[in-house]
Amino acid sequence: MLSLLWNMKKKEDKKPPPYISVSQVRTYLMCGMKYYFRYFEKIETSPTGPMIRGSSVDKAANDHFDVKADNGIGLKRNDFVDLAVSEHDFSAENAEMDITKQTSRDRLAEISKKYHTTHAQKLTPLSKGSVQLKINGDIGLDIPVLGFADLITKDRVVIDNKVRKQNRVNDLTKDIQLVTYADVANFSKVGIALVTDNKTPKAEIYTAQISDDSKSLVRERIKLVRNGIKKNVFLPAPEGSWYCSEKWCSFWSICPYGAG
Ligand code: SF4
Repeated sequence: MLSLLWNMKKKEDKKPPPYISVSQVRTYLMCGMKYYFRYFEKIETSPTGPMIRGSSVDKAANDHFDVKADNGIGLKRNDFVDLAVSEHDFSAENAEMDITKQTSRDRLAEISKKYHTTHAQKLTPLSKGSVQLKINGDIGLDIPVLGFADLITKDRVVIDNKVRKQNRVNDLTKDIQLVTYADVANFSKVGIALVTDNKTPKAEIYTAQISDDSKSLVRERIKLVRNGIKKNVFLPAPEGSWYCSEKWCSFWSICPYGAG
């Protein structure tokens, strides 16, 4: 299967995009082979249950902050939840669900309520254009870095929304996505507005000050990634990685380091 796929794809002319996105960098750092399948071979995979719960909250939050930038209030709670749930139902059609669709829908409703009563009230956009802000900047590579910041708040914090199982985050001063956004858009504080993905969701905002040293270190990591991609170096996930498994990797069946 894999050799067939490889031979098939080799015949095609694959032009790389004229930019490198932050999500491409994160994928490459997680697993070079995953990057290869997703961005080089352009193999599409179905979204998962956790992914669609996260993107549904993102969608409602974006609309809420867009309205809040205009009227200072944003969406009412029921409208916020309805929007998130309808987004979920639409995306769930083609998703690989981790729990039943109805359970996922009910959980998403609770997550959305939690987001609305906490982060949606506490955070205020800097301006209308600071919701889903396109970041497209030069960090000394041969191509620009591209990404979308969920929100820049009125106190100039770059915020990323996250819906995830655990109520904790890694060191934000090393976060490729947030530090790059702060670097390119010239901000010095970043944060994650997190809601946990479980029956009784919890909400927390984690923030960190980003120094010039942090920005330089992240730039260097992105340069290493860019060089690896240019040289077609696609290493597999480190041995023993939890995500290099049939359960967590969509490319398991075709990857030579999985079952391919
Ligand atoms: S099976 Fe492992 S090495 Fe292969 S793409 Fe998935 S995570 Fe990477």
